[in-house]
Amino acid sequence: MAALTKLSSFRLPPLPTIGEIIKLYNLRAEKQLSQNFLLDLRLTDKIVRQAGCLRDAHVCEVGPGPGGLTRSILNAGATDVLVVEKDTRFISGLKLLSEAAPGRVRIVHGDILTYRMDRGFPDTISKPWDGDPPNLHIIGNLPFNVSTPLIIKWLENIANRTGPFAFGRTQLTLTFQKEVAERLTASTGSKQRSRLSIMAQYLCTVHNCFTIPGRAFVPKPKVDVGVVHFTPLVQPQIQHPFKLVEKVIRNVFQFRRKYCYKGVEKLFPEASRFELTQKMLQNADVDPTLRPTELTIPQFRALADAYAHLCTHEPSLLHYEFREELRLKPLTKQGNKPEDTFIMD
Ligand code: SAM
Repeated sequence: MAALTKLSSFRLPPLPTIGEIIKLYNLRAEKQLSQNFLLDLRLTDKIVRQAGCLRDAHVCEVGPGPGGLTRSILNAGATDVLVVEKDTRFISGLKLLSEAAPGRVRIVHGDILTYRMDRGFPDTISKPWDGDPPNLHIIGNLPFNVSTPLIIKWLENIANRTGPFAFGRTQLTLTFQKEVAERLTASTGSKQRSRLSIMAQYLCTVHNCFTIPGRAFVPKPKVDVGVVHFTPLVQPQIQHPFKLVEKVIRNVFQFRRKYCYKGVEKLFPEASRFELTQKMLQNADVDPTLRPTELTIPQFRALADAYAHLCTHEPSLLHYEFREELRLKPLTKQGNKPEDTFIMD
């Protein structure tokens, strides 16, 4: 009973609906900022439930826009909600929300790609990496145009325990285009298995929570949207510097429909390519005729181990980039670069 009374004290007083806020402040969606709004509070409540218990939580919300998801976060009991919004037009509406929840909303007018989240919350909320996650959550109905660079940046932060992960294993609940959500969570052998699957899953437990049909957004995007929840692992499944792991994964997936040795080859300069590819695959005990999508994370770990081992003997390998070499190569008679047949994920 006491808990119920406490939770009801978090609930917001009556406010104009999100539709009314959009009309009141004339908030026409800007395509350039990937603005697709959620007006249905049952849906925003459902997204917020995927984050787990938000009682007394600190939350960073990415791109609050007119504030629908923000309302659900507040109603779930978060006591400190820091919203980062790039579009100045939304600030007045967010101030209205902040007045309705005194002391619980902090508004940052800025770009989430450069915002220093490690400075946004008190150190006192930190939890040891090998303990429970801190009571800090990142939640956002992400703008499509920044979702992939943003998650890659945060995965690097997880590997280095920096940014939002300086506080511990901060959990994330984020939306992505359905196709990207499927890649993030794809298992070995599935059609959607890609660079993003390995990058996310070697560092986090990743869960594709549910799909929101495009028609639920205003304006309606061309695609459906997936809600994905991430919890950083105590022990990453591959224990090498992020840049090295990223390089191995990126190269292996360079030719995603071919045998994996084709991508592995591209880690090495032409002169030593054949010999070092053989060595790396042998040391990793990986069948060269497996396709990139068929490789498990332990196999990627073995590949990263074998590549790191070769690099300790020949450090210049770390700086070798096949694409750079390709860029410098002269064109063939047909006007193509000699091996210019990438299929990118
Ligand atoms: N949260 C709102 C909702 O669910 O209705 C709006 C979501 S809309 C898909 C994306 C929001 O992110 C917009 O408000 C947009 O202005 C904002 N945005 C776009 N790029 C951003 C960036 N780099 N940093 C912070 N906010 C950004």
